[in-house]
Amino acid sequence: MVDARKVKDMVAKKSNQFMNQMSGKVPAHKHCRICHEPIPVASEPRLCKKVECTEKHEKNEKNLKTVRIAMFVFFGIFAIPYLLALAARVMG
Ligand SMILES: [Zn+2]
Repeated sequence: MVDARKVKDMVAKKSNQFMNQMSGKVPAHKHCRICHEPIPVASEPRLCKKVECTEKHEKNEKNLKTVRIAMFVFFGIFAIPYLLALAARVMG
């Protein structure tokens, strides 16, 4: 017969081990977006103290903004005729 209490104990131990692996050994931390160095959780933006990472991050942000605008324009070019066609259909 299977001892239910033993099984329960084992499961508890196993899940404890799992929890320790998940949270105990590695303290909460973040990684620098650029070089992936561990940094404190409170760091905002997610960058380490290196100047080159800050510079790279700023460059990335600028690129991202440009990409976003381009996407917006691109979307607009496709969406406007579609919306017009839809409006025309709705109007009859
Ligand atoms: Zn870094």
